[in-house]
Amino acid sequence: MRFLITAGPTREPIDPVRFLSNRSSGKMGFALAEAALTRGHEVCLVSGPVSLPFPEKAELRSVETAVEMFAAVKKAITDVDVAIFCAAVSDYRAKEFADQKIKKNAGELTLTLVKNPDILGSARDEFGFEGYLAGFAAETENLAENAWKKMRRKACDLLVANDVSRSDIGFDQDENEVHLFFSDGRQEAIARCSKGTIAALIIEAIEREA
Ligand code: C5P
Repeated sequence: MRFLITAGPTREPIDPVRFLSNRSSGKMGFALAEAALTRGHEVCLVSGPVSLPFPEKAELRSVETAVEMFAAVKKAITDVDVAIFCAAVSDYRAKEFADQKIKKNAGELTLTLVKNPDILGSARDEFGFEGYLAGFAAETENLAENAWKKMRRKACDLLVANDVSRSDIGFDQDENEVHLFFSDGRQEAIARCSKGTIAALIIEAIEREA
């Protein structure tokens, strides 16, 4: 099968030297790409800025901002069977980009943010994707309830949720502990293990379903 995988954070510029971003390392998305390749699939990897070696056999599209990721996904999703949205896309970007470095003058500085496009949320209606759709959810509370809501809202077949309030797993760690929520109501927990193992289990689950 042909997979599209989004990975990493996005970077939203404020001025030539500053940006808004988050703690995503890209490890989970890259592990998914490796796992899919190992199992003989084709992978198009759309990644925000990360410092990881790129999986050799993947087709790589490097992007910076959410708007760039949106455009790359819109193009790539037309010929894939499975799309996994693992990227930690910034929800907001600065309304205006300052051409010159912002000077520190006043004691307060107000930055106006505007909402970024929801890439996963656009997959079905806007991009017309009819293949197998998997999303991720990073939650700090009410994991299951929020996961089911997100799955329905974004019309996913699979939602992978993890608790990011814990510092020992998840963001920038090599290990994670996740819960899989399937659109038919099934739920499965994957106990703490390496992101590589989690990725292989997710790809296997998708192979059974897609
Ligand atoms: O709504 P929330 O951001 O928590 O949803 C997370 C899921 O949506 C992840 O799969 C993430 O990759 C995707 N997402 C996206 N575009 C956004 C925000 C989130 O594709 N702007």
